[in-house]
Amino acid sequence: MSESTQPATVQNTPTAFGWCHWHEGHADGVRLIDVIEQGSGSGITTFACEPCRGVHGLVPFADRP
Ligand SMILES: [Zn+2]
Repeated sequence: MSESTQPATVQNTPTAFGWCHWHEGHADGVRLIDVIEQGSGSGITTFACEPCRGVHGLVPFADRP
C-alpha cells in the first residue's frame, strides 16, 4: 500500500490574491467584503486587502454575525 506523504499546509487565515476595490490595485490576502445583489445576472462583489480593511474599518462578509 503506497501512501503519498504530502505536507499538510493548513492555514488559519486563507489569503487570496486579487483586486482590492478600495485602493484599486492588486493585493495579497484580499477578503470578500460585500455582495451587492442585482436584479438580474450575478451580483457585484467587492474585495479589500488587509491594510484597507484596517484603514476603513471593513469587516469581511464571512466574519459578520
Ligand atoms: Zn487595498
